[in-house]
Amino acid sequence: MTADLDPDEFRRAGYAFVDWVAEHRAALPGLPVVPPVRPGEVAAALSGPGAAFADGLLPEAPQPLATLLDEVERVVVPGSTHWQHPAFFGYFPANASLASVLGDLLSGGLGAQGMLWSTSPAATETEQVLLDGFARALGLGEAFTFPGGGGGVIQDSASSAALVALLAALQRADPRWQESGVDGRERVYVTAETHSSLTKAVRVAGMGARALRVVAAVPGTQAMSAAALADAVAADVAAGLRPVLVCATVGTTGTGAVDPVRDIAAVTAAHGAWLHVDAAWAGVAGLCPELRHVLDGAGLADSFCTDAHKWLLTAFDASLLWVRDAAALPAALSVTPEYLRNAASESGAVVDLRDWQVPLGRRFRALKLWAVVHAAGLEGLRAHLRGHVAAAVALAARVRAEPGVVLAAPPTLGLVCLRCVTADGGPDDAATRAVLERVNASGAAFVTHTVVDGRYVLRIAVGGVVTEAAHVEALWEQVRREAAAVRGPSTSSH
Ligand code: PLP
Repeated sequence: MTADLDPDEFRRAGYAFVDWVAEHRAALPGLPVVPPVRPGEVAAALSGPGAAFADGLLPEAPQPLATLLDEVERVVVPGSTHWQHPAFFGYFPANASLASVLGDLLSGGLGAQGMLWSTSPAATETEQVLLDGFARALGLGEAFTFPGGGGGVIQDSASSAALVALLAALQRADPRWQESGVDGRERVYVTAETHSSLTKAVRVAGMGARALRVVAAVPGTQAMSAAALADAVAADVAAGLRPVLVCATVGTTGTGAVDPVRDIAAVTAAHGAWLHVDAAWAGVAGLCPELRHVLDGAGLADSFCTDAHKWLLTAFDASLLWVRDAAALPAALSVTPEYLRNAASESGAVVDLRDWQVPLGRRFRALKLWAVVHAAGLEGLRAHLRGHVAAAVALAARVRAEPGVVLAAPPTLGLVCLRCVTADGGPDDAATRAVLERVNASGAAFVTHTVVDGRYVLRIAVGGVVTEAAHVEALWEQVRREAAAVRGPSTSSH
């Protein structure tokens, strides 16, 4: 006897769940972006007397699914940070468009496990076709498509993409790596602004922190200096070390800095190191011809990653990774026990995407990306990106015109970084922090911070699914007001 709903029960409950999501999204603008929740409060509400997990125990008896919605309404919504709120400007966006939610429903409904081509041919080939199409739409070049000898794969995250790129790089640098592991001479090149996932990838690969070389930035910027990279690589080679991978970032997490990929590619080409381009947030901008300049040189990389789950309307997780050599990831990652052997794989005519990632199992993620492309078309995707870039340009102009506030870095696409300054123009960390805290405590909007050259910076990342120019304008009014309020004679400065 099945413990599951039958299709008719699913249909009835499904309507209620879809109605709930629709109503929740419609109600979002009236909710605080960040809830005033104390640690342990959600857990206590779930495990208190009469709650879903009373005394911390799972229920013995089945419950009607409708009561789950009651609990979500009672406990989960008030305990959630609302990433889909139009005034969410923190970190980078995590777009979960309703179209992608429906695509995810199809994926769950099919319930296919696409580890091998043969375990679900459609899951693999849909992903291949979509990623080929995106490689073309982004202007990456035919070399990154399957017909061109490369190919793309949907990873869970840009962090996983960086890890598998590193493993492929280790394999290419020394195929004996699979037997003997790293020998301590491998080196990976990043900047101080490179995402922490590279540090993690180096750690996971067992290379140790000594493997990580932090290359200097071009003076006055946060972007990698290709000249400093060339020097670091040459010095390492002379010392008998092995440059394995360089990570160039297009749109760093802190300030949106863009490393000079083309110049970096010239260095990696000279030394044979793998070039990974991490464009997790900014890469999707390449869909717009007028913004594609941020991807200059990306076509020269060995691997390129951009997240559809950040700014491209697709619910987490959908990190798009391309490699120019379709054999590179399988060479590093393929392990084939008897129970996975099958005629299709052995024919060599198919791609088994399990060999392009760390886990064996994989979901049919392409369906939610397809749903997004289907609903928006490339035109709709471009309009989504352009609207945010225009709002960020207008915001940056407001910052430039405002006394007491300055841009802390050149704006990139939808990201604007600012800080408060003292009367003599110096950074006022205390005031900047106070503005951020006041904005976030209000519940009306949410922004996050970074530190650049040791000084506090407020980041405004414009990019929510339903974020429009008016929301950015309202945030600016609030920032301006709070900055004026904290800039009193009593405000301490440096
Ligand atoms: N790389 C960059 C430049 C990022 O900004 C981020 C996240 O913000 C990541 C990598 C990690 O992304 P993910 O959450 O997909 O692992």
